[in-house]
Amino acid sequence: MPSNLAKLPTRLPSIDTLLRHPACQPLIERYGRDAVLATLRQLLDDLRDPARLGQLDGAELAPAVLAGRAGERLAAQHRSQVRRVFNLTGTVLHTNLGRALLPEEAIDAVQMAARYPLNLEYDLATGKRGDRDDLIEGLIRELTGAEAVTVVNNNAAAVLLALNSLGARKEGIISRGELIEIGGAFRIPDIMARAGVKLHEVGTTNRTHVRDYEAAIGPRSGLLMRVHCSNYSIQGFTTQVATRELAQLAHQHDLPLLEDLGSGSLLDLTRWGLPAEPTVRQALDDGADIVTFSGDKLLGGPQAGIIVGRKELIAKIKKNPLKRALRVDKLTLAALEAVLGLYRNPDLLAERLPSLRLLTRPQPEIAAQAERLAPLLGQVLGADWDVAAVPAQSMIGSGSQPVARLPSAALCLRPQLSRRLRGRSLRSLEEALRKLPVPVLGRIDDDALWLDLRQLDDEAGWLAQLTQLQLLETIR
Ligand SMILES: *Cc1c(COP(=O)(O)O)cnc(C)c1O
Repeated sequence: MPSNLAKLPTRLPSIDTLLRHPACQPLIERYGRDAVLATLRQLLDDLRDPARLGQLDGAELAPAVLAGRAGERLAAQHRSQVRRVFNLTGTVLHTNLGRALLPEEAIDAVQMAARYPLNLEYDLATGKRGDRDDLIEGLIRELTGAEAVTVVNNNAAAVLLALNSLGARKEGIISRGELIEIGGAFRIPDIMARAGVKLHEVGTTNRTHVRDYEAAIGPRSGLLMRVHCSNYSIQGFTTQVATRELAQLAHQHDLPLLEDLGSGSLLDLTRWGLPAEPTVRQALDDGADIVTFSGDKLLGGPQAGIIVGRKELIAKIKKNPLKRALRVDKLTLAALEAVLGLYRNPDLLAERLPSLRLLTRPQPEIAAQAERLAPLLGQVLGADWDVAAVPAQSMIGSGSQPVARLPSAALCLRPQLSRRLRGRSLRSLEEALRKLPVPVLGRIDDDALWLDLRQLDDEAGWLAQLTQLQLLETIR
């Protein structure tokens, strides 16, 4: 536009003209008249100064164009806050990204439970009031060999509830090497304190012996506890008492042994080439009286905390009023039952359970995908970026096997710019990917942005978005 004309003020259309314009009718239908009115007012307010200064031409103020801009604003305002993302971080069970993905069977079960009334606490055989734990108790007993079961909101709740039910006002004896912090401010000493159990720590960080536990047992003892060190590993000069030995000691003194497995696993994962993780059945076989574990870590189900063990102890836990505050909802139970059902046929589990399928995805397959996608992304990003298909190492996540790595492949995006500009362009690209309709999340490391492709299932959907990335000139 010639600059001498740019100085003439342009008139804004009136609110009434806009509201009556055909382009606004679909917006009114979708978002309601009040919302459209408020958005148009805001838009006109924002345009008033530029229009007065002649910075806008008539075409930019055409009612259809303004309706379009109002539509964009309304869409952004009404967009759901819960958003799907592409998890290309390389961490499969990512706590901040919702951990395990549910199998179709569980999604169907959740839909059913959401849509219809159901026998949540109703015994269809007798017509009497039921117990929601009964819906999954049989399956979990079958899969773990436990005498009894109860389910709560998550494993943190399971630990809190079990500790409070079995050890309140008494001492809980635990090794100093197991006083861990899990992300999100879950710390064993704090949970014990909140559960009303007095912490009695024994041994040292790297070595704890049976005699350490034995010396600590006295009239105030309420339970022995062992916590699986999910998210760190102690290596070198170490000693840990085996569950079997610890259980024997506990039982000699008539105390229960509570074992928090964290992730835990229902089956031996080495059968799929994954690192060994203690199984729930093994912990019970070794003599643990109560075992707690998560529903959405290696089990691959919904967020839940599962407590299994001796019948009379589970009965005590279920009587605790806290159980009511920590119980699971119907959607979770529906999903959990469906996921557990898949474990009845381990041969098909790696096909049917998404988390196991992703954890066991063969490296050559991921590498081939990276080779396929690298040139396409390279074209989109242009000459300022080097896009390479490279070997990478994924992690299981959620504190399972912190030092284990799964061979994977990634797209490594490296800016070919001066050192000064590199950091900024990396951050801009990371942001641009995050702002896509389905945000793409990778990780920045060693002056590059890494997109681990282990979890890129929807390749077509991912590719289709890339054209929109091209529009962001700032990342060049
Ligand atoms: C993950 C974990 C927890 C907490 O489980 P959530 O299901 O996240 O509440 C507790 N203890 C251990 C050992 C864990 O690994």
